[in-house]
Order: sequence, then C-alpha cells, then structure tokens
Amino acid sequence: GKRTNMSMEEQRKSLPAYKMRKQFLDAVNDYNLLIVVGDTGSGKTTQLTQYLAEAGYGNRGMIGCTQPRRVAAMSVAARVSDEVGCRLGEEVGYTIRFEDKTNDSTRIKYMTDGIMQREILLDPELSKYSVIMLDEAHERTIATDVLFGLLKKTLKRRPDMKIIVTSATLDAEKFSSYFNECPILTIPGRTYPVEIMYSREPESDYLDSALTTVMQIHLTEPPGDILLFLTGKEEIDTSCEILFERMKALGPSVPELIILPIYGALPSEIASRIFEPSPSGSRKVVIATNIAETSLTIDGIYFVVDPGFVKQTAYDAKLGMDRLQVTPVSQAQAKQRAGRAGRTGPGKCFRLYTESAFQNEMLPTTIPEIQRQNLANTILMLKAMGINDLLGFDFMDPPPTNTMLTALEELYALGALDDEGLLTRLGRRMADFPMEPALAKSLIISIDLGCSDEMLSIVAMISAVQSVFHRPKEKQQQADQKKSRFHDPAGDHLTLLNVYNGWRGAGRSDPWCFENFIQPRNMRRAEDVRKQLVQILDRHRLRIVSCGRDTTRVRQALCAGFFRNSARKDPQEGYKTLVEGTPVYMHPSSALFGKAAEHVIYHSLVETTREYMHNVTAIEPKWLVEAAPTFFKVAGSDGAGMSKRKKA
Ligand code: ADP
Ligand code: MG
Repeated sequence: GKRTNMSMEEQRKSLPAYKMRKQFLDAVNDYNLLIVVGDTGSGKTTQLTQYLAEAGYGNRGMIGCTQPRRVAAMSVAARVSDEVGCRLGEEVGYTIRFEDKTNDSTRIKYMTDGIMQREILLDPELSKYSVIMLDEAHERTIATDVLFGLLKKTLKRRPDMKIIVTSATLDAEKFSSYFNECPILTIPGRTYPVEIMYSREPESDYLDSALTTVMQIHLTEPPGDILLFLTGKEEIDTSCEILFERMKALGPSVPELIILPIYGALPSEIASRIFEPSPSGSRKVVIATNIAETSLTIDGIYFVVDPGFVKQTAYDAKLGMDRLQVTPVSQAQAKQRAGRAGRTGPGKCFRLYTESAFQNEMLPTTIPEIQRQNLANTILMLKAMGINDLLGFDFMDPPPTNTMLTALEELYALGALDDEGLLTRLGRRMADFPMEPALAKSLIISIDLGCSDEMLSIVAMISAVQSVFHRPKEKQQQADQKKSRFHDPAGDHLTLLNVYNGWRGAGRSDPWCFENFIQPRNMRRAEDVRKQLVQILDRHRLRIVSCGRDTTRVRQALCAGFFRNSARKDPQEGYKTLVEGTPVYMHPSSALFGKAAEHVIYHSLVETTREYMHNVTAIEPKWLVEAAPTFFKVAGSDGAGMSKRKKA
C-alpha cells in the first residue's frame, strides 16, 4: 500500500479522525454523552482512545473501549500499543473472557462487551473508568445493547463519567434520540467509488463461484488485494486449501497469490499477518468472516468478493435453543462489505447474487441480536444486578416478550429463579461464572455431588477451546486411533476428563501431546481457564472435591444443567430430543458413536447435513427427573414416556 513508507506518526495523522481531533476532545469536554459516526477505517477504534489519553483522561481512571469480538479487542489493542510505543498489557491492554492482559499502569483498555457487562455486575459505578467508549455499536450485539441501558444508569450515579458511542453506519439519529438527544460528531469519509458487479443468475454453489471469482480477479485484474467474505472457519480453511491447489496447478509463471484466512478462533500471531502489505509483484487474498466487515480494517483492498451470506446465531423455536445458521446478509451489510474495496483507491465489488435478490430478498438492515437470540444469559445477569423489572428496562429495541418468557422459563427450570421470578441463591451463584447458565449450574451442583474437581476440568476443557484434538488431513486414521484410547464408555465429557488427567499425569508435556494428537497450546489454555475457575470457587468458599473413580456423579451433575438437551435413541434411526421430539444424530467424532446409549444429554447441536449432537454423555432418565422435577413429568414407571411438563 502507499502508506507503508510513512512513519507511524504520519500514518496516524493521515487518518480522517485526526482532522476531527480538536472537535472531538471539545465535545467530550462539554458533554457526557457523544455519538461518533465514521466510515470503517477512519480511525475511531485506534485513534479516539489515544486522543483521550493524550488529553489526560487516562490519568483519573481508565479509558475503556468495548468490542463485540474477541479478535478485534486483541488485535486493536496490539496495534494501539505499537502506536503508543509500549508493550501490550502495560499502558495499553485488553481483557477478554479468561484472558486479562492489563496491569496497574493500563490507561487504555480494550475489552469485549461481555467483559464490560461483568465489570458492571461487580462494580455498577465503574469507578475504575473515566471514559467508556462503546465501539462498533452498529453491530447491535446483545451485550452492547444491554450496555446502552446499563451505562445510562451508571451515568446518573457518575455525573463525571464520559460515554462515547461509535458507529460505522448512519443510524446515529436513532442512537442520539435514545441517548438523551446527545450530540453527533461525524468524521468525514474519504472513500473512493466502488463499482458493483452482480451475478446474472443465482449461484447454485456460492463457494465454488467465490473461488473462481478470486482466481479470475488474480489473473485478469490490475494490482490490488482481494477480500472474500465467507461464513466460518471450516469454509475458510477449505477454501484456502482449494485456492492453494489451484494456484499450484497453474505453475510458477503466474504471479504469487498470498492466501490468508481470518476468523475468530485463529491464534493472534497468524491473524496479524493479514495486515502486512503484500510484496510487490504478488497479491494477497484475505478470506474472512464478517469480522472484516467493520471491526478490522485491512489496507490495500481493491476487490471485494461477497457471496452474500453470514453465519449468525438465532433462536430456533423447534429446537428450543440457539443455533448457528447461515443466512443472507442485509443490504446494510452488503454495502459495508462493498465499501471495503474503496478505501485505498477506486475498487470493485463482486456480488455473487443477482441485483433483484439484493433489492427484493435482503432485509434493509440486520435484526439486532437481542431480537433473535436466547436471552437466558442476559436475563440472569440483569437479575443479578438487581434489575427485576425487565419489561421496564430501557432497551433501545426491546426483545420480543415471548423471547423473554422463554428465557425466564428456562432459568426457572434451572432453579435460578423462584416462583416470583426472583433470583435464587443458586441463580446468584450461577451469575458469578462467566459461562452459559447450564454449564454454571452443572459446576455448582457438582460441589454438592462431590465431584467438583472433575467437573472443573471438564468445564475448562469445554469453555477454553473448540477442541483439543488435532486431526491433520494426512493422518486422520492415526489421530482417531489415538483419540479412541481416551474414549470413555460413558461419553465425551468423561473422555475430555481422561485427556486432561492424562496430560496432567504426563507432567503437562508437549511430546506427550504430539504423540497423542493433542494440541498443547489448547491444553495450556484449558489449564489456565481451570485455574481461573478455581479462583472463583475459592472466592465463594466453594469446595473442590474429587469423586475418584465414581464418575457417575459427574454425569448426574451434567444432567442438572443440560436436562433440556436430552435425547432418546429412536428405534428407526438416530435420536429424538425428549423436549420437542426433534430428530438429532450422534456426531461421528463422539465416543458414543456406534454405541448403544439409550438416553443421552448433549452440550450443543451442530448443523451440517443434519443436526448433530456434540459432546454427548450417556445418562439414566431418572437423573433428568431428579434434576428438573418441574420440567419433566414421568408417564411410565421406567421413565420411558417422559415428556415436557405442560406449562400452566
Ligand atoms: P475504525 O475503527 O474507524 O474502523 P480503525 O481505528 O480500526 O478504524 O483503523 C484505522 C486505521 O488504522 C486503518 O485504516 C488501518 O490503516 C490502521 N490499522 C488498524 N489496525 C491495524 C493493524 N493491526 N495493523 C496495521 N494497521 C492497522
Ligand atoms: Mg473500529
């Protein structure tokens, strides 16, 4: 890019935000609430916090900046610490769940919006902060939406506090009217025209046509990097491999194409490579989830390929739980994506859908998360903050009443709420653990059942990483064989426990990991999470007790949390969920795959060609009734005809 020869200082001054520096600081001085609107890449996230620090706001408390995504929090903190010239975790740091890179000298702190919520739970006045910047507010995550209301309350107790809400889209009027008609500061854009190309016919295979488009751009278009939007990790990894093979097949006469993936679960060292300018004569293609839509800005992009899909969580009424689904993007998202091509010069955007689909089939804007996702987590947290009148809570866009009722019912069944809808002691405890309510409940119940030592390991393994198993393409059989040695006849949770204990028994050794196809960094991360959970238990004087070999209790504790996610073997094929009777299947990677487990509970469902249960454990139906007597009624004496209790 043309900016690569500039010093860091010059780069900072060349950003659109710099021209507004004085106006911004004046506005912050004069008002408690401020909305800042500016195109993606104008310097909102990396610059505004520094301007505030330079003006002295970091001296009386921290400058906190929230991000909807973990990767964004880590990556912008790293960038800003570079610009400031300090080590990450000192003057500039970040906090995400189970990972705190800040210290006593930290003045600028990036964090996920979920972390900010937890901090309000512990300290409603946010006394450690002088300014809070709610960044990427246009993303409308549940946590940010809830923070809107919570921070308005905090402001009443802290008249000295400054709150800045930033957005990349022009919904500022709506934000302003919600935030007491506060002023709006607009950072003038500096964008180049982007030519939009549509597909003539609907694409039957968007992945294939996306990769073909990328190759065509590379072979026929002038220099400039490419950004391709896909929906998730698997899709991105596969595409990288396919592109790599196609490039290899073309031989060395073709200019180099540097293929770079970026998604949430990618280690930060790899993720930072996307920002490196491509060497002259070569071109890079960044293959990203919608994280590159607004949260991360990559310079030098001239071409955007947009298949028009995004993976998002939505409540599935049929399953009674949240599920990741691939859905079409909104028109607003499609415009954001196209805009990524016009930051360095005039660009092109290839939309792999028809113009008529854009006009007639896509929603104008994305529905806020709070109106489409399960709210059990959020409601538990609000209740723990003493906010009981949920219908009266100052939501910018209130969630549908039905969604709230479902969440309340779920929390009631878990024992977190009493008949009056007030938080129980158990519920209060559950809110102290930064994890989904079901998992928190299983952990707390495991103390009474005398197996908290084991449950801590399992919860840590589930919460820390997607998977600890390493399954390289060329050695899948060998990897599966090694994995099967850890398989517990009772299922995957105890299999995870076996792995953890095996690793600990082997002195946490890396060679042991390599030999067993286990990822050592993920094990260390799980260990780190476990330590933090132990601290929470210690703080509440909760006992850590081991059940030794009697792991039946571990399974009972799991039932206490996950009774909703229960299924029974179907005489025909697969399983049927006990609650709604939906067909689900054992995932081939499960320790119970091909086994005869009659009743099971599962941690989550993953949809590929059909609904697969992930992390499955065999159980006795009577444990379900013990776990949630109000939820299940037993029709037959053997528990076989169990069905969901009819709600009065
Ligand atoms: P905004 O929040 O308005 O979208 P940012 O503050 O994130 O903008 O980015 C401003 C500029 O900083 C970007 O245009 C890019 O040039 C640069 N930048 C941001 N993050 C990085 C990074 N990790 N590495 C290199 N440059 C970066
Ligand atoms: Mg930003």
